[in-house]
Amino acid sequence: MLSGPSGVGKGTVVAEVRRRHPEVWVSVSVTTRAARPGEVDGEHYWFVDDEYFDWLIANDGLLEWAEYAGNRYGTPVAPVEEQLASGAPALLEIELQGARQVRSRAPEAQLVFLAPPSWAELVSRLAGRGTEHPDVQERRLALAQAELDASGEFDVVVVNDDVARAADELVGLLTAPPPAGR
Ligand code: 5GP
Repeated sequence: MLSGPSGVGKGTVVAEVRRRHPEVWVSVSVTTRAARPGEVDGEHYWFVDDEYFDWLIANDGLLEWAEYAGNRYGTPVAPVEEQLASGAPALLEIELQGARQVRSRAPEAQLVFLAPPSWAELVSRLAGRGTEHPDVQERRLALAQAELDASGEFDVVVVNDDVARAADELVGLLTAPPPAGR
């Protein structure tokens, strides 16, 4: 499972995994946020309304879920269970609160933290995202700092210095046997 601070490029690394390693199964999350241009329903996310999201929660349909920046995101549990039952790995890209839920529900899951090459790099990536108000940028940076502080909770840290390299390292971890004692 891949997590890490906002702006570190989790989505980009997972997109690169899909491109370079189409054999790797990647979970498709449900979200209540609107699709961005170019995003395809059922491919990047399942785009659902609040009512359906509530229904999924009430019916234990989600492995984990979290609210992030005003929208809800969750991992449908059935496809992940099916995938793991087949003996093959599953890749989940989720934010920190969700990662903690997976940790408590599935202690054997491998948690990978994607880290920026440096704090300065993360600041410039967050700022470079565009037209956000300086207040919003400040809040995102404070959140990113808290998220970076959580890296110690993870099994492995992958540094996103190069997207292709980080994607390969992640896939190597997915397919490697689990470390002894886990
Ligand atoms: P975005 O709106 O930029 O696609 O995603 C916002 C955040 O939600 C990212 O940090 C992403 O990793 C996280 N996210 C995407 N899917 C899930 C999910 O199923 N569960 C959780 N907890 N977070 C998710």
